[in-house]
Amino acid sequence: MPRKPIIAANWKMHKGPADAAAFIEEFENLIGGSSSVEIVLSPTFVTLPAAKAALANSETTQLAAQNCHFEDKGAFTGEISIGMLQEIGVDYVIIGHSERRTLFGEDDAMINAKAKALHAAGVKPIVCIGETLEERESGQLESVLRRQLEVGLKELSADKMPATVIAYEPVWAIGTGKTASPADAQQAHAFVRKVLGELFGEEVAAQIRIQYGGSVKPANTAELMAQPDIDGALVGGASLEPGSFSEICKNAG
Ligand code: PEP
Repeated sequence: MPRKPIIAANWKMHKGPADAAAFIEEFENLIGGSSSVEIVLSPTFVTLPAAKAALANSETTQLAAQNCHFEDKGAFTGEISIGMLQEIGVDYVIIGHSERRTLFGEDDAMINAKAKALHAAGVKPIVCIGETLEERESGQLESVLRRQLEVGLKELSADKMPATVIAYEPVWAIGTGKTASPADAQQAHAFVRKVLGELFGEEVAAQIRIQYGGSVKPANTAELMAQPDIDGALVGGASLEPGSFSEICKNAG
C-alpha cells in the first residue's frame, strides 16, 4: 500500500490563539477543502484549543502537540499529560525534537517513555531523530540514527508502528537555511527504514512514514518528496506563513 505523504508544521514558540485562528482561516482557503497529503499543524499548548476550534470544519488538516509528559498526572510543574491533549482532540504529538533534546536535556530513554505512553493512549507519535554536524562529519551518522531508533522505539509493539511517524531532521539543517541534498536525505531515510525493518519487520517498516525536516521550503519540497523513502516533511520556519506552507503542501502532493 502506498504511504500517504504527511506534511506537518512545527510552529515552535510562535503564534498565540488569535494568530493561529487567522492563519488557519487563510490556509484553509488556500488549500481549498481537499489535499492528497495529510496536513498537520503543531501550535503551542495554549494555542491548541483555538486551533482545534478553527479547524472544526476542516476536511484536510489535523492537530499535533509539540511535546507531552509520559505520566498521566502528578507533581510535574509545567508539564502537560497525554490525557489533557486528548481532551482537546490532538491527533499527533511530536516527541524528541532536537530543540527538546539539546535545550531541555531530553534523552532517548525519555523519548521512549513518551512514545510508549502515546501508544498506550492511542495517540500517534511523530518521533524526531537526527545527527549533529559534528556527528555527521566524524562518520557517526548511522550509529547515531541507529541508537536513537533502537532506544527511542524500544519495546514498542509492531502493530502500532504503521501509525507512528519518524521525522529525520539533521540538526545542522534545522532553521539554518541549509537543506540536506535529496540524495543525502534519501540515503539517511533508507538507512532509517532498514533499521525499522530490523526492529519491527520489513512489512511494518514499509508502512512507516519517514518525514524529512530541515529548511524545507516551497522550492525544495518536490525534489525531496520525489525520493523513494521520503514520505513527508516537518516544517519550521516556512510553516509560519499560510502562503508558503500551503505551497509546500501542494508541492508535496
Ligand atoms: C523544525 O524545527 O523541525 C524544522 C525543520 O525547522 P526549519 O524548517 O525552520 O528548519
